[in-house]
Amino acid sequence: MTDQLPFQGPRKGECACGCGIFGSLGKRDHVRGCKCKQCLGRRNRAKGDAKARRARKMLNLHGANTRHEEHWRGALRVEVKAGAQIEPIYTRFLKAEKQSDQGAPIGDIRPFAMIAMPDGTTDGVVLMRLSQFSNLMLLIEDQHR
Ligand SMILES: [Zn+2]
Ligand SMILES: [Zn+2]
Repeated sequence: MTDQLPFQGPRKGECACGCGIFGSLGKRDHVRGCKCKQCLGRRNRAKGDAKARRARKMLNLHGANTRHEEHWRGALRVEVKAGAQIEPIYTRFLKAEKQSDQGAPIGDIRPFAMIAMPDGTTDGVVLMRLSQFSNLMLLIEDQHR
């Protein structure tokens, strides 16, 4: 005769980090929604990974499914940046795009690119919407087929 364990629901308890919240225990006995450094870091990494996967798919970059974007195969090396550090750049881009939209003739469907060229630089940096950029990449790929 074997002993059968009673059905166990999600384990509940106090968060292992000592933050004082009580609830279902997740990885390493931290409660979901815990705001300790470890948990925030893990959630941010998960978010970043999801974004990187999405970007890779949109750019049609095949290769190993890895967090290290530099290993992606394809015509392009990319580095996906997420989080607060990148918000000012994104906001600035949206502003420039809006400005360009307002000056563009009706029916102009050309993709928009913002070129960032701070004082003292001669080589600019290009910012584009991922969706428009991926269309552009597909065009280039088609030409090399
Ligand atoms: Zn906690
Ligand atoms: Zn935690």
